[in-house]
Amino acid sequence: MKKEVIENYKKAGQIHKEVRDFGVKQIKEGTKLLELAEKIEKMIKDKGGEIAFPVNISIDDIAAHYTPDIDDKLTFKDGDLVKLDIGVHVDGYIADAATTVSIGGQDKVLIKASKDAVDKVIKEIRPGKTVGEISSLIEEVVVSHGVNPIRNLAGHSVGQYLQHGELSIPNGKIPSDVPIPEDTVLGMEVFTTRGEGWVKESSPTLIYMFKQMAPVRMRESRKIVKKVFEEYKTLPFAKRWLKNVTTPLRLHMALRELENRGVLYGYAPLREKSESKVAQHEETIVVQDKPIVTTR
Ligand code: MN
Ligand code: MN
Repeated sequence: MKKEVIENYKKAGQIHKEVRDFGVKQIKEGTKLLELAEKIEKMIKDKGGEIAFPVNISIDDIAAHYTPDIDDKLTFKDGDLVKLDIGVHVDGYIADAATTVSIGGQDKVLIKASKDAVDKVIKEIRPGKTVGEISSLIEEVVVSHGVNPIRNLAGHSVGQYLQHGELSIPNGKIPSDVPIPEDTVLGMEVFTTRGEGWVKESSPTLIYMFKQMAPVRMRESRKIVKKVFEEYKTLPFAKRWLKNVTTPLRLHMALRELENRGVLYGYAPLREKSESKVAQHEETIVVQDKPIVTTR
């Protein structure tokens, strides 16, 4: 991997660390999710980074893909299990990492199981190890804590301006001989639960990404596409970032049109099927003989 590419990955990781440390401290009873998301996103830019995707703040049985809505009124409550998943990029090179905070200190085992699994992967991963080997490692560690991995969620490769690359490492053991090539950059994430270990799509959709061009009717839809090309490109963006485009109702209609026509992909919030709480841990790893964890 080129030196300047590694440097950009490391710079993104350094900004991530600083922003994540700040964010974790704000996760307490009474904090507004919207304020926290906006502060974190501003801080990323102030530190010289760019936002790789909207800050995900997912609570309890929501595993991922919740980001505050326009005028979101939600505040943290005692007992919340909060996943803070932040994306930073420098010249398109992404740091994607997440951690879980329990307000009130419950669910320690879930949190530890997800973090231990990622730590174990960091210890064992090398170029040429297979997806099957790593996925079974994850399952072993998680199950040893008496909890379940979420089997339809996965770690994933990242690339320049690409949050989810082709390579995927499921949280549950799968038979796969696919080797992980040297210099693969992974958003290595593990989700744990006491429930079934399966997520399903829920609502409302608050995060989108450009998919492909297609004709659209609404003027607002064309305005959104223009903004996406100029600002977000191939990276995910939040509905709330579009609040100045038009009225909330027209925005809702335009996003629905864009999704229906296949122009945008909508990331619906992912909810654990048995409505059990979910913990998550994620770090970004450059796979080399001596793996580099950019977000630590
Ligand atoms: Mn993430
Ligand atoms: Mn990720």
